[in-house]
Amino acid sequence: MKIGALKETLDGEARVAITPGSSAHLQKLGHEVHIESGAGARAGFSDAAYEAAGVTIHPSAKALTEAVDVVAKVRPPEDAEIKRMHDGQTLISYFYPAQNAELLEAARAQGITAIAMDMVPRISRAQKMDALSSMANIAGYRAVIEAANNFGRFFTGQVTAAGKVPPAKVLIVGAGVAGLAAIGAATSLGAQVYAFDVRPEVAEQIESMGAEFVYLDFEETQQDGAATGGYAAPSSPEFREKQLEKFRELAPDMDIVITTALIPGRDAPLLWTKDMVEAMKPGSVIVDLAAEKGGNVELTQPDEKIVTDNGVTIIGYTDFPSRMAAQSSELYGNNIRHFLTDLTPAKDGQINQNMEDDVIRGATVAHDGDITFPPPPPKVA
Ligand code: NAD
Repeated sequence: MKIGALKETLDGEARVAITPGSSAHLQKLGHEVHIESGAGARAGFSDAAYEAAGVTIHPSAKALTEAVDVVAKVRPPEDAEIKRMHDGQTLISYFYPAQNAELLEAARAQGITAIAMDMVPRISRAQKMDALSSMANIAGYRAVIEAANNFGRFFTGQVTAAGKVPPAKVLIVGAGVAGLAAIGAATSLGAQVYAFDVRPEVAEQIESMGAEFVYLDFEETQQDGAATGGYAAPSSPEFREKQLEKFRELAPDMDIVITTALIPGRDAPLLWTKDMVEAMKPGSVIVDLAAEKGGNVELTQPDEKIVTDNGVTIIGYTDFPSRMAAQSSELYGNNIRHFLTDLTPAKDGQINQNMEDDVIRGATVAHDGDITFPPPPPKVA
C-alpha cells in the first residue's frame, strides 16, 4: 500500500506523523512511503532526509492525498482533508470521536476508514501504539522544563561558598502518565517533590520515584476517586473539600505546581483556586497541563503565560509535545508504524482491517460507510 503523511495545518503544530526513521520500518512491511513536501520541516526532518530514506515527496496536500491509500497525520483532520479523500482510503490521526461527531459523520459519508490514535485501547499488547501515553510522557517532562525555565532559582539544593540554597518544592497534582513523567523530571533535577492523585494505587509508584505522596485526612482514604479501567471518577463534594483544604495548606510552601488531573469525557476538575494562587510566594510557577480541557487552575488562560499581581507565573500552553517536535514525531511515528504492523500481518504491503482484533476494532471509528464508534469493550486486558 502507499502510505503518506500530510503537513499539519494547525498553527504552531510542528509534529509530523511519519519520520525518515519510521518510514524505513513501513517499507519493511512492504509499503511505499510518501509525504507532502515540508511535512517534517518544523520537526527537523527535511525533504532531503526523507528522500534519502526512500520516501516520495509530493508538492501539495491534494497531490499527496491522491497518490496514497493511507493518509497519516497528527491532529484531528479538518473537514476539507476528509472531503479530499475517497471511498476505500484510510486516515490515521488523532480524532477525539466523542467530541467530533460532525467529523465522524464526514468520514462515514466519504466512505473512508478512520483510525483514531486516541482510541487505541490501553491494554498491555497495545502499549507500543499508545500515542496518548507517548505524548503525555513528553508533556509531563516538558512541563517541568518550562517551569524550571520560568523559575528564578535552582531546583536542586546546594551548599556553596556563596551560601546555602534549599531545594525547590514541587507539587504534582494528578499522577497518570504525564504526572509520573513530571515527577521523574523534577526529582532528577533535584527538587523535593510531592504528588497527589485520587487513585490510591499510584501512591506506591509516586514513592518509588522518590516523591512524597500527599495523603488526605479522609475516612475512606483516597478510594473515592478511583473508577474502573484505571481512570479517575469525579470526586464527592466532601472529598473535594478535603483535597482543596490540603492544597490551601500546601500553597504558601510550594515553589512549583504542575497540574495534570483529568477525568475521561469531562471537563478537567478545578483544583487550584484563585486564593491558592494568591497565597503562593512571588516567583512561584504553575504549569497547568489540563489547560486544553478547561484547566485545573482557576486563573489559567489556555495557550498563554501570565504573571499574576503577586508575581506567580501561570503557564497554560496546550502544545507541549509540539515544543519537542523531533522527539514527539519520532515516538508518534513509532506508534503509527506499530499500528500499521498490526494492520499488515503478512508483511506483504497489504492492509488487513481485521475488525475481530480488539486493538484495530477499538481504534477504528468509521469503516465501510458506517460509524464504528464507540467500540465494544476489549475482550482481553
Ligand atoms: P488521565 O490523563 O486521564 O488523568 C491524569 C491523572 O489525573 C490520573 O492519574 C487521574 O487519576 C488524576 N486525577 C483525576 N482527577 C483528579 C483529582 N481531582 N485530583 C488529583 N488527580 C486527579 O490519566 P492517564 O495518564 O491517561 O492514565 C490513566 C490510567 O490509564 C492510569 O491508570 C494509567 O496507568 C493507565 N494506563 C494504562 C496503560 C496500558 O496499560 N497500556 C497505558 C497508559 C495508561
